[in-house]
Amino acid sequence: MARPGPFTLAAALAVVLVLAGGGTAHAAAARASDATPATTQLPRGIRPLHYEVALVPHAATLTFEGRATVTIDVAAPTRSITLNAVGLAFSSVRLLPASAASSGVAAAAIDVDAQAQTATFSFARPVGAGRHRLAMSYAGAIGTQANGLFAIDYDTQRGRQRALFTQFENASARRVVPSWDEPAYKATFALEATVPAAQMAISNMPVASTRPGAAGLVSVRFAASPRMSTYLLFFAVGDFERATAHEGPTEVGIVARRGAIAQGRFALEASRRILREYNEYFALPYPLPKLDNVASPGSSPFFAAMENWGAIYSFERILLIDPTISNQADRQRVFSIAAHEIAHQWFGNLVTMHWWDDLWLNEGFATWMASRAVARLHPEWRTWAASVRRRDEAMAQDAFAATHAIVQHVETVDQVSQAFDSITYSKGAAVIAMLEHYVGDPAWRAGVRAYLKAHAYGNTVTDDLWREIERAAAKPVVDIAHDFTRQPGIPLLRVERGGCAGGATTLHLRQGEFAADRPGKEPLRWRVPVIARAAGHPPARTIVAGGSADLVVPGCGLVIVNAGQTGYFRTAYSADQQAALRDGFARLDAIDQIGLVDDAWALGLAGAAPIVDALELIERAPVDAAPELWGRIAERLTKLDAFYRGGDPARQSRWRAYAIARLAPVLARMGWDSRGGEPAPLTLLRAELIGALGELGDAATIAEAQRRHALRESDPTAYPVALRKSILQVIARHADAAAWEALRAEARAASTPLQKEQLYRRLASARDEALARRALELALSDEPGATLSASMVSAVAEEHPDLAFEFAVARRERMDALLAPATRHRYYPRLGSGSHDAAMIDKIRRFAEANLPASSRRGAESAMAQVAYGATIANERLGAVDAWLASRRP
Ligand SMILES: [Zn+2]
Repeated sequence: MARPGPFTLAAALAVVLVLAGGGTAHAAAARASDATPATTQLPRGIRPLHYEVALVPHAATLTFEGRATVTIDVAAPTRSITLNAVGLAFSSVRLLPASAASSGVAAAAIDVDAQAQTATFSFARPVGAGRHRLAMSYAGAIGTQANGLFAIDYDTQRGRQRALFTQFENASARRVVPSWDEPAYKATFALEATVPAAQMAISNMPVASTRPGAAGLVSVRFAASPRMSTYLLFFAVGDFERATAHEGPTEVGIVARRGAIAQGRFALEASRRILREYNEYFALPYPLPKLDNVASPGSSPFFAAMENWGAIYSFERILLIDPTISNQADRQRVFSIAAHEIAHQWFGNLVTMHWWDDLWLNEGFATWMASRAVARLHPEWRTWAASVRRRDEAMAQDAFAATHAIVQHVETVDQVSQAFDSITYSKGAAVIAMLEHYVGDPAWRAGVRAYLKAHAYGNTVTDDLWREIERAAAKPVVDIAHDFTRQPGIPLLRVERGGCAGGATTLHLRQGEFAADRPGKEPLRWRVPVIARAAGHPPARTIVAGGSADLVVPGCGLVIVNAGQTGYFRTAYSADQQAALRDGFARLDAIDQIGLVDDAWALGLAGAAPIVDALELIERAPVDAAPELWGRIAERLTKLDAFYRGGDPARQSRWRAYAIARLAPVLARMGWDSRGGEPAPLTLLRAELIGALGELGDAATIAEAQRRHALRESDPTAYPVALRKSILQVIARHADAAAWEALRAEARAASTPLQKEQLYRRLASARDEALARRALELALSDEPGATLSASMVSAVAEEHPDLAFEFAVARRERMDALLAPATRHRYYPRLGSGSHDAAMIDKIRRFAEANLPASSRRGAESAMAQVAYGATIANERLGAVDAWLASRRP
């Protein structure tokens, strides 16, 4: 799954941008090659081998009927069979012989346990060991949120249309197919669906046959899938078009609503190239005959795309390129998310984690692999800075007590859902990047190839990967990997220079821990691979183990620890080194400039170093520094501005004046209009600077955006496609009531779901509090569409967290209907997490205690930690910023 990523910053790869009871497993479980006992919510002893599923959706009434016949293997005689099912009404359950024709025996009792999400079928006589078929007829409901089988309504020139899709990760196959809905229960699936003959049906595999049914219906039978986990099953039907291309024997396809297929051309070509790259990297050709990516109108605050095997599902916003609004950031996002989902076709689909404890094997790897593919296939995008940003995003969660280890024990459906976070995705990817640099690309690739080959169509735990990497690398990897995946947190390396002798610098490295909310914490111990380099000299490497190490670095002068920024740790330099790095800042590699600013900023906010260190580095960035550095600085300056919110307006004005004075010359240098052949990073930076200067209230930027917006009908050169999103961002942020109503009229009249969605999200970004209240009311009306409401409330929360949190909590029942069930426990606390009013901590705590089971409160704990940290920054750090601002005035 790909996470949605921030919407407000036009960030380049802002992507990277989702049961109580149950016992412990017995050894009979699938093919976990480790003896580790695996978690389960189902009793072991029965294994599904093959599912025959027939669905008859009734889109108009939001109901469906289903028949599922599952070939099962029973290990020992039993009187009952328990599987997963939620919201399904069974009309018939029979046990049949494995092959012989027979009407079989009906279940004597059907017990549905809504809490455990199971159905138990009891039989009068014991079910013997060996193979049987379990035949079930049932009915269920089609939802309106992206979960289970759901409907998305959208407007077209031919009137309102409804398309159906499925979303099963992590535990919603059970809402459509009664099943052993755990990743280790791999089986083959043969799906048939009865659908309107005029519509197109899509599943994991190509259509095998069709037969006409009654009243304009047709029964479509798809070829049987390979052996796979239930969460990867997919089905969609609607008024679709499909475009295809070939990569070797594979048919690559994009599926989109009628009229939009041309907007999928970019993704089609991207997918083809990515598939070729991965076939080569994994040395194991993509095994299915086709690979579709299905574009869906609508939205989810929790995911952007889903890797169903052979039939990826993506929201339009991250799959289609609309020639009237899409910009460079959109193109990069489409490419990157396609690369993420296609990486899952191997990492996740072909080889699957045994249980959700190892979810990071899927998500960390796909995130890392996608960044590698983007860098190789689009070197001109210069996306290397995205990995530093991603590491920082992981550390922003990992520095707090509410973090967790990459490999973590999960049991309940809610706990699985809350595992889809920055640690699983971004820290997972960062740790892989570090280990890949440590063993080298050829050894890493050889290990990955061996791992996939050994476990194809099976399930694994994390150590299965480490074993293959270590074997390929012929050097110790497992212990380092364990340190970073089995314990939470961030190593902090304190650097002291021992001086320069014989043309080499000796560094003393001491390992502590960077714990932002626990200053006196006793540090954990890691074995930390370190690369250090003096400018103009070859790098030196070591492993800091046991808490300290000395490292001799060739060369004297400026020395960077974590050179190239591939290590997952923070670095704190001694005062004299920090001063030297500040003075030599302009001469450093851009990636190290960004890493230095990130470290100084994080240490400063945590009170572990003077915040002035970070400001002094930014002060040294030349106006012609790398666009990637300026993008990062723009983000830092606007984020700090948010901590002034609600305080003394004069203090905020002084900060804004400073930040604008830093950023405006960079924008002025490149201008609003792009020159032909401009490098992509510059195009991205322009959008980021316009957004940041708008955010900081820069009058000139706001006026220019308004001027250009007013000319949108009469002078297309003033309102080029590349600038439209940026202009709209500024217009909406600073809208008055009249401008807001004008945007709303534009949203109502928008001709495509993508344009509509873009405008409604913008309506939710207004800074004016009265307009924010109107946006909240609008979000809960029928106007924006059922899947956009929750995202709009989240968008309001970015500027008005207290308002949005209280609004949503007060309308809990209405709000719950607009959220997929397994996401509710995370959604509400997250709304308040941007507050830095300490009173919000109690509000979130009261909400959690009253509404969330104790095992589902990580989202709440994390949100409370963020609020507490925000309050600390607002109350204790801004003073030093103010003093620094005053000191530098002439
Ligand atoms: Zn993913």
